[in-house]
Amino acid sequence: MRLNFTILGCGSSMGVPRTDGFFGNCNPNERKNYRTRCSVALRSNGATTLIDTSPDLRSQLLKNKIKNINRVIYSHAHADQTHGINDLRVFFLKNKKKIPVYADQDTKNYLIKNFKYCFIKTPSYPPILKMHNLKKTNTFNDGFSSLKIRAIKVKHGKIDCSAFVINNKCAYLSDANYIYEKDIKYFKNLKYLVIDCLRYKEHPSHFNLDQSLKIIKVLKPKKSILTNLHSDLDYNELKKKLPKNVTPAYDGMNFYL
Ligand SMILES: [Zn+2]
Repeated sequence: MRLNFTILGCGSSMGVPRTDGFFGNCNPNERKNYRTRCSVALRSNGATTLIDTSPDLRSQLLKNKIKNINRVIYSHAHADQTHGINDLRVFFLKNKKKIPVYADQDTKNYLIKNFKYCFIKTPSYPPILKMHNLKKTNTFNDGFSSLKIRAIKVKHGKIDCSAFVINNKCAYLSDANYIYEKDIKYFKNLKYLVIDCLRYKEHPSHFNLDQSLKIIKVLKPKKSILTNLHSDLDYNELKKKLPKNVTPAYDGMNFYL
């Protein structure tokens, strides 16, 4: 059973346009410049796995007609990856069971501290989520299809973020500014590499365009997709600067693994 990988959102932390309407260098007439915050849906055999719950989760699920969520994998604790968590409530009500979520220790601590009511019974709400440890290798069976997600820590400024290699075919590094030397081997020669590329200028916790292109040369994927795009990066202007097998992401972009 083939796995569909959908980029639900490819924007930087404030999205494009920002809440105040600011588009930066992005042309408002290009639909691909409308970017919600980063998250991904992996769909196979009627089951959907989410990577992160962005603050735009509700609109992302509506736009992509995703009607159920089987589990969520978290990459890290930042607000743009987690603050849509409350929108998982509907799936608890539909399925009449808690939605399993998987996170590393720091992300677990953050989520349980800041969204306690989602995990622990309160007088007003029943808990809707069940927390699990994110392991190095996570395997999920959904009927005829099996999903294997390897979690690898990458540096993201002052914290580590989990990058994911999915079914040994596609790597997803939405927030990173360094791949630890010992882990480079996990990201080499894949079919797809979806990688952080915040802007043209350097940044302390994200790859910029030059750095992303350098890493792509080392990792040699068949195709690379740039994500976590800030308003400095206009889709068409950026595309013109890229080698043939590298493309900017856009919301709703999807492919099969
Ligand atoms: Zn982040």
